[in-house]
Amino acid sequence: MIYLDNNATTRVLPEVMEAMLPFYTELWGNPSSLHPFGAQVAKHIDKAREQAAALLGAQRESEIVFTSGGTESNNLAIRGTLLANPGKKHIVTTPVEHPSVLLLCQQMEKEGYEVTYALDHPEKSIGENTALVSVMWANNETGVIFPIEKIAAVCREKNVPLHVDATQAAGKIPIDLRQVPVSLLSISGHKLHAPKGIGALYVRRGTRLNPLFHGGHQERSRRAGTENVAGIVGFGKACELAQERLKNGVMEKITELRDRFEKTLAQKFPWIRINGKENRRLPNTSSISFERLEGEAICLLLGEENICVSTGSACSAGSLEPSHVLKAMGLNAKQARGTVRFSLGFETTQEEINQTINTLEKIIWRLKRTS
Ligand code: PMP
Repeated sequence: MIYLDNNATTRVLPEVMEAMLPFYTELWGNPSSLHPFGAQVAKHIDKAREQAAALLGAQRESEIVFTSGGTESNNLAIRGTLLANPGKKHIVTTPVEHPSVLLLCQQMEKEGYEVTYALDHPEKSIGENTALVSVMWANNETGVIFPIEKIAAVCREKNVPLHVDATQAAGKIPIDLRQVPVSLLSISGHKLHAPKGIGALYVRRGTRLNPLFHGGHQERSRRAGTENVAGIVGFGKACELAQERLKNGVMEKITELRDRFEKTLAQKFPWIRINGKENRRLPNTSSISFERLEGEAICLLLGEENICVSTGSACSAGSLEPSHVLKAMGLNAKQARGTVRFSLGFETTQEEINQTINTLEKIIWRLKRTS
């Protein structure tokens, strides 16, 4: 199998699995218990918190709240902030956010909030009544990176909390929250080689946030519920490994592979459109529009050859609507429908890329003949 769908999810690394196993076998105590059998487990959660904080450059481990993943972190950040600041009724976001932000914002509109969806310079829409700005660090479909440093500086100056969905950015580009004054930041385990169903929300000290779950005092009462200990430990390990890869220049290698892939394809098919190419992008993501062809057909035919890619995002698969992200970027419905997303991983090789190009070439000629 050639797996080029790493923005949908990633493989759990053996080191991550190994770190998790003891928490299903011997170390199954409850970290909140007073007895040593339970209490010893809490130390491993502390370590995972340090590992996650280190990946983000968080100043304090206590700023990390473990959640079930990106979706929950986004919901906690947004709704939790609004609940904590009931006097303000305006949200600023972008039209290209993940559904866990966009659909929540639509729900907030039904609950009486006003939402501004601005693709360029969202920070310019901040007003007196703005309770929160929520902007993703990098887009899951195109890999386009938002200028979070700039947006964060304006938000700080205007004293408005900024939430950043960094689900796709974490582990792929350096994030240093000592330098960038973000208030809240979401990350997800399964995008960086940890299991599905674990993630975190970074909450800068001093940020007002109400919990969504009411119950025990876990996670300093910010997220009630007995901890997913094995998931948390695996997530911590995955954060540590991701940080090592960033330091060791792995992302530069992925960028080279991706750029060569795009260059070769553009030589063979000069009519393709590489979405977001004029912007700063994640190293691993390539969103390509094959005009007049169906992205879904390309995706299915590649699948038959054991090459995994996707049209748009897994979250919107099955919907007949063309991607909201590509639409917001100015693509027409035909161009959006002809789009395929290739997302490389640190394990992707040049041979795999070559094979993908060869297979893709055959598929494109075949589809062109029948279209
Ligand atoms: N935000 C973005 C940008 C994503 O790509 C995803 C995953 N597709 C999520 C949030 C949701 O994360 P999770 O699957 O962990 O709920």
